[in-house]
Amino acid sequence: MDAKRHRLIVVSNRLPLVFKRDAEGEWHAESGSGGLVSALVPVLRNRGGTWIGWPGTSEADGELGQALSEASDEAGYMLRPVSLTAEDVRDFYLGFSNEVVWPLFHDLPSLCNFEPAYWRAYQSVNRKYAQAIVDNQVRDTDFIWVHDYHLMNVALELRLLKCMARTGFFLHIPFPPPDLFLKMPWCRQIIGALLAFDLVGFQTLRDRRNFVQCVRALDSQVEFEGRGQMITARVGTRVVRIGAFPISIDFKDYARRAAAPEVAEKVADLRRLLPKCNLVLGIDRLDYTKGIPHRLRAFQSLMQRHPELRERISLIQVVVPSRVDIPSYNDLKLNIEQLVARINGEFQRPGGWVPVWYVYGSLTSLELLAYYRAADIALITPLKDGMNLVAKEYCACSVESDCALILSQFAGAASQLGEGALLVNPFDIEGVADAIQQAECMDVGERRARMRRMRHSIRRSDIYDWVNTFMKAAFASDLSAFPLPEHPLAIVDGEVPAL
Ligand code: UDP
Repeated sequence: MDAKRHRLIVVSNRLPLVFKRDAEGEWHAESGSGGLVSALVPVLRNRGGTWIGWPGTSEADGELGQALSEASDEAGYMLRPVSLTAEDVRDFYLGFSNEVVWPLFHDLPSLCNFEPAYWRAYQSVNRKYAQAIVDNQVRDTDFIWVHDYHLMNVALELRLLKCMARTGFFLHIPFPPPDLFLKMPWCRQIIGALLAFDLVGFQTLRDRRNFVQCVRALDSQVEFEGRGQMITARVGTRVVRIGAFPISIDFKDYARRAAAPEVAEKVADLRRLLPKCNLVLGIDRLDYTKGIPHRLRAFQSLMQRHPELRERISLIQVVVPSRVDIPSYNDLKLNIEQLVARINGEFQRPGGWVPVWYVYGSLTSLELLAYYRAADIALITPLKDGMNLVAKEYCACSVESDCALILSQFAGAASQLGEGALLVNPFDIEGVADAIQQAECMDVGERRARMRRMRHSIRRSDIYDWVNTFMKAAFASDLSAFPLPEHPLAIVDGEVPAL
């Protein structure tokens, strides 16, 4: 069989590119790195493949052709843009994706804006993505892998365009239980659209169970079979495979880079700034799902109830700017800044120890690794999270294995790291404070044992394993058609655009 005939088409909201203008005003695209891109690139190169997505700018449409074709040559696979208008971005991306799906799927229905125009935009933009796939001379033997909550309607639209290629979908965020999902006026259409894929993947078994319960609540004709990692749904004459595929990171690459001498130098600089202090680290995108105000309140409670820990422990809270165009995100930023000021005002002594170090901005790769290595405790307490890669990256960078991870029970990562992390309910302010105290007092033997368990688990199930498992599930009955490459050596540094 000619393996090359099964090309891979990856489709995501954004292309994995960063566009920059040079001094002459010409656009240049740099191919992104990051775990997902690194893991997919060898498959794309090996199979021959294409990545389809929005370039991230409406302003330069038509000027990007040259930059994209240069970036494709450099990347070794094709990069194809989908053009979105400013209205598309407003109603499909900021609107339906981020004011409906994002809050609802993160258990926050009170933040949803079920604006009917948003749903119409979602359908029409998903149709644009499907059309871009078809325009890319897709063949029935290709495998189309669609990523994330922006594009749940793409398989349905492809079927309407008579495209018969095999399709897979992976949801990077959680899937909600029926009592939440059924609040969405278009819940029935979304379930129908997801069942138009041949394979649907979720982060955890809990997400998959929620999905199955929603299907059962909305369509009694669908029959489920099987148990374990992969089950099947019979939808009329079609069979849809449904699985849990917890996403991961390039463990070896993080561990190798974290051990570099320049990281050690940076860690020493940080330590000089914060002498005699154990460091607790939070790193999050600015987002209300990350539970940053709750976490700050927990740290405040710790300082109030355990005065012996004052001057012995500091929290470094990094907040990476995100969705800054949305007013509610700016309100969240102000709320965080007020809390930091209040805590520092309450406990700081002039010229001395600072309880909370607040960093607002994007970190370089070197800074990120140095924070990971310098921190004695990572405090990762999202209210709800699909996976949380920061938790896994922190463990991978903990090359001495002598630090502790406090992790929200509502992060997808908790199902994999629960044996080594201290699991907490992020809404329980005093419970989180107690966990910080427990981690602080934990003897180094226990820290090491816990951290080694987590590192072992992440090393075994890394991002390459994730891609292979998804592909194998997609071609379960036809494995010889899609031989997969060996794990490649990773990776170049660079900016990681959000997908
Ligand atoms: N990250 C980043 N820039 C930074 C700090 C972190 O790109 O300044 C990366 C981090 O390494 C991780 C990702 O952002 O890979 C965050 O992923 P996670 O799953 O934790 O949360 P998300 O932001 O996707 O909700």
